[in-house]
Amino acid sequence: VKDTKTALVTGANKGIGFAIAQGLGALGFRVAVGARDDVRRKDAVERLRARGIDAFGVALDVTSDDSVAEAAATIERLDVLVNNAGIGGRTDAGAQDPTTLDLDVVRTVLDTNVFGVVRVTNAMLPLLRQATSPRIVNVSSNMGSLALRTGPIMAAYAPSKSMLNSITVQYARAFDGTNVIVNACCPGYVATDFTGFASPRTPEQGAAIALRLATLPDDGPRGGFFDDEGVIAW
Ligand code: NDP
Repeated sequence: VKDTKTALVTGANKGIGFAIAQGLGALGFRVAVGARDDVRRKDAVERLRARGIDAFGVALDVTSDDSVAEAAATIERLDVLVNNAGIGGRTDAGAQDPTTLDLDVVRTVLDTNVFGVVRVTNAMLPLLRQATSPRIVNVSSNMGSLALRTGPIMAAYAPSKSMLNSITVQYARAFDGTNVIVNACCPGYVATDFTGFASPRTPEQGAAIALRLATLPDDGPRGGFFDDEGVIAW
């Protein structure tokens, strides 16, 4: 077991995270299914195992210091970390209209989409640094691009992804000269609970760019923001 590369995917119980877990499993990784809900996590592990994937569950709420610390303590080996867990935040009653912005929504979204990534990354770094070719992938969104101004106005969610991209660059600089490679990606507009399944794009299609960045060669790009087409302007 210790000879097999291991990947942790946060929010892997459904949607794009599940597809990333499945894709990494198909590439031969042992996959840690990070999920906060016991029932949903066990169900996802079962579904992955039924597809022949070497999966195990890790209780993980990215907003909880204790949960993240416990998760890091239960994982023995880690080669790849995919920070996929993310939320859009409430949009009712102008909650994400900047002119009526509900700051509690901003705090909640940042806690998951940004602080959650930092919390998990820093807890997992000691494990990752022991790997030969550690890779970190942050699942962002082109809605975070300051250049593209894409998607609906969402004044909590979009800035959370801008900040995630910015922090990805800070990490890349901190990892300069080491073997740890970190990048961010946009999965595209994908049919999941998050979007109300209002897209023909499948979670497997959305997962493809994360799989590519999770398996970059040692001379691969660092601190970039990518989708299927290449570098995203941001
Ligand atoms: P889903 O809502 O289908 O899945 C989100 C996942 O994140 C779920 O597994 C959810 O768990 C988990 N999650 C949320 N909060 C936490 C938490 N505090 N701790 C642990 N897990 C958590 O969304 P998608 O699959 O669509 O989105 C995945 C990522 O892709 C997100 O970061 C999103 O911003 C990004 N993205 C998605 C796009 C799309 O079109 N779908 C477009 C661009 C980016 P639970 O089931 O317990 O809620």
